[in-house]
Amino acid sequence: MLYNSTQNASEVVSAAQAIAQGISKDGGLFVPQEFPKYDEETLRSLLKKDYKGRAKKVFSDFLSDFTAEEIDECVEKAYTPAKFGGDNPAPLAYTSLEGTALNILELWHGPTCAFKDMALQILPHLLTKSLKKTYDGKDAVILVATSGDTGKAALEGFKDVDHTRIIVFYPVNGVSPMQKHQMNTQEGANVRVCAIKGNFDDAQTGVKKIFTTPEIAEKLAENNMLFSSANSINWGRLLPQIVYYISAYCDMVNDGKIAFGDKINVVVPTGNFGNILASYYACLMGLPVNKFICASNSNNVLTDFINTGVYDKNRHFYTTMSPSMDILVSSNLERLLYRISGDDAEVTHEWMTALKTTGKYEVSDSVKALMKEKFFGGFCDDKKTQDTISRLFAENGYLCDTHTAVAVNVYEQYVAQTGDDTPSVIASTASPYKFSKSVLEAVAPNDQLPDTEFDMVDRLNEVTGMAVPAPLAGLKDKTARFSDVTEVDDMPKYVLSALEIG
Ligand SMILES: *Cc1c(COP(=O)(O)O)cnc(C)c1O
Repeated sequence: MLYNSTQNASEVVSAAQAIAQGISKDGGLFVPQEFPKYDEETLRSLLKKDYKGRAKKVFSDFLSDFTAEEIDECVEKAYTPAKFGGDNPAPLAYTSLEGTALNILELWHGPTCAFKDMALQILPHLLTKSLKKTYDGKDAVILVATSGDTGKAALEGFKDVDHTRIIVFYPVNGVSPMQKHQMNTQEGANVRVCAIKGNFDDAQTGVKKIFTTPEIAEKLAENNMLFSSANSINWGRLLPQIVYYISAYCDMVNDGKIAFGDKINVVVPTGNFGNILASYYACLMGLPVNKFICASNSNNVLTDFINTGVYDKNRHFYTTMSPSMDILVSSNLERLLYRISGDDAEVTHEWMTALKTTGKYEVSDSVKALMKEKFFGGFCDDKKTQDTISRLFAENGYLCDTHTAVAVNVYEQYVAQTGDDTPSVIASTASPYKFSKSVLEAVAPNDQLPDTEFDMVDRLNEVTGMAVPAPLAGLKDKTARFSDVTEVDDMPKYVLSALEIG
């Protein structure tokens, strides 16, 4: 299977190249030229497999330049019970709210308690194998700018992986206390963490600059290293996400929640559009999906886009209690537009250029219609988010995080507007303990809030009785390894010295 760039039809690469390179030279994203089609027999054969077995099947169909042994090794190393707390890394929880069934796909049982582990636990293995195929013998240097979740998940994924080094930059005042502590206590001989005196955009711009400075690239080359990327536009991060939608469908059939062949809806709390796109790709492969419900917080640029066909990022930016969705440019939307415009790289390039220059574009009527047919967009603000957490906990004792609550709320809106009773899978993207303050306020509104993050964790545990995930509980007694802070202008110097080549 070969991959194209969304912005240049003549760019054709192998899977290993797509993963090693991260992004196409023309600025486009790599997409499979075609999707494997799972007929009834193939889908049925997956019912009997466990998560790893399902993953191996999906990976082998997309990564045709990997051997079966290589794929086995990647999957076996990534999805261990030790890392995901059980044999199924993506279990379903069945609950309901005011008469509406909620099938909640818990994607946060990994080592950092956010769904990004599902991809970032396997990406390092895919990447090192891809590098071996394309740039044999070089060490990969992963630079990450993070607003919180990605940095920790990437650190945890890459720690002590041979032939990789990882350096994470985060805004000194831009992450939660829990996120900061998670990163600064990171173990591993090949990791570095550094705060920058600036915001997330400064961190991101700083990293991009380092990537594109020829003198730095030369220094790395002299030392047998090269830069690579772990951000969410890398195909190696999207592919693992397809697996859990297929796996959830199989689990629902096996659990008697749906009959084989029945359609489902998929509800996803969305930021960069990677997670929901993975469910769309699963559908292109044959998974029976009726509607994709795209849930946003007050940064509702996607809701407007789905409803009007106009993407306009020129709007107020809200800092919300679901920070991983505080995003105005959803990078992976580009891949959907490419697909529903009939793999039209030229028009995709036009829209993305308009987005870069004016912050705005409008898609054609046919693309609008195709999008409306399959996607529903909705949003909810912080108040409704907390109200949803509170109602769900009060009625059924089910505790969810702020991002998941946005999805549940938008799903309720969808059901109220359409009356559609198709069984629906709701992606749950983080442990409630990652956002203890907002969740505690929701379930115990009359309590005096404790002072520190870990006191809030303990209090939330007392109030709800829900176990604190081991990776978060264990953090309390860990001392920080990293306390580096740098000026944005000194980031290049920091990188060279961290790599001991400066
Ligand atoms: C990253 C993230 C999201 C958004 O996922 P996208 O794939 O970027 O749409 C939602 N919730 C949580 C907790 C996240 O960390």
